[in-house]
Amino acid sequence: MFSQFELHKSLQLAIQELGYQQPTPVQEAVIPLALEQADLRITAETGSGKTAAFLLPILQQLLSRRFSGCGARALVLVPTRELAAQVYAHCRELTRHTNLKQVLITGGDNFGLQMKLLEPQPEVVIATPGRLVKLLDQGSADFSHLEVLVLDEADRMLDMGFSDAVMTIVGQCSPNRQSILLSATLANKRLHGLAEAVLTEPEVITLSTVQERHSTIRHQVVLADDVEHKLKLLSWLLANEGYQRCIVFANSREHADRIGGYLVTNGRRVGVLHGEKDQAQRNRVMSLLYAKAFDVLVATDVAARGLDIEGVDLVINFDMPRRGDGYVHRTGRTGRAGHEGLAISLISPLEWNLMASIERYLCQRFERRGIKELRGSYSGPKKLKASGKAAGSKKRKKDGKKTAVSKARRPKKSAS
Ligand code: AMP
Repeated sequence: MFSQFELHKSLQLAIQELGYQQPTPVQEAVIPLALEQADLRITAETGSGKTAAFLLPILQQLLSRRFSGCGARALVLVPTRELAAQVYAHCRELTRHTNLKQVLITGGDNFGLQMKLLEPQPEVVIATPGRLVKLLDQGSADFSHLEVLVLDEADRMLDMGFSDAVMTIVGQCSPNRQSILLSATLANKRLHGLAEAVLTEPEVITLSTVQERHSTIRHQVVLADDVEHKLKLLSWLLANEGYQRCIVFANSREHADRIGGYLVTNGRRVGVLHGEKDQAQRNRVMSLLYAKAFDVLVATDVAARGLDIEGVDLVINFDMPRRGDGYVHRTGRTGRAGHEGLAISLISPLEWNLMASIERYLCQRFERRGIKELRGSYSGPKKLKASGKAAGSKKRKKDGKKTAVSKARRPKKSAS
């Protein structure tokens, strides 16, 4: 029950209106520690309820403490515009019975307007790093009295090359702040470096392994000869699989456009989302999807992280992602909140080894599926067939086993 947390009645009311009955595991673990102003390093994925897990304690602290400083009180940095819009919408829902104000700052929107939005000094700023750095350069944002800094999907921010921008922003934040860093994947060297630079004696919360997070998802692979064969397989799957919503992932903008074009030519309404689309086009695609104008979204990885699209029960990897964590992020769009999901990857001869390495990363062997109407000539590597050895049967990767919640206590911070 949310009543176990000491949250302001306006927040409790908002939670009730959102229909949340129970805190999710990440909320159970994070809220009490965040309310104690601990720095936190959290491994949790979109879909776990992580946004409310950091927003609720932040809002509680903003409501319960008097502020005599200037500038923003809380800053949430996120890697993509879509995720920023989602966090902003969530924050608005949670603050609807309070006087707290939040502002959304992302690239692609009007710069002058954003300068104006920051003038009345909203309590909460939700931003992508690139645009925020530019506003800081203009002196339009002030974080000198910041109380809480959140780096959401920090691993993705590093992947997207925001490391310098993030560090510039962090350098302008009050050193007395509380800091919370979230990532979907387990620590790597660069993430570790960022955490060291930003957090002070953090509590570490690791909710589940990559494998556990995917326990409600069925993973299948279908072998394909080439791109033409893949397009036919995709068309067949979309016509024959039952699904509410499907995301088809491609590795490049060119592939996404080509797939979108092929499906449209074959009479299917689809949306295409990739980084080259401008903000207005992206917003239009997302609103059409939410309005159920179509049920298939073709996307590059720009849409893989952060987007919380309800009812996605089928993910198709037209191209296999290049890394295991990319696979996790893509297929994590389905099987959310305990619902079942299906992930189907189309594997060409050149992608076999990649698929095998992802199986090892997940410590899981994907189900092999054949579509008899469209059987091609490729049936897997010859050597493997001769030895009868499964690609997923190799030794487990060490960090794939990490699990559970570790909570090393640390001294309480004094309120700034
Ligand atoms: P997130 O992981 O923050 O992207 O959240 C995923 C979805 O879970 C969002 O649609 C939230 O509104 C929803 N959610 C968050 N917390 C809860 C909860 N305690 N009970 C039910 N749904 C929740």
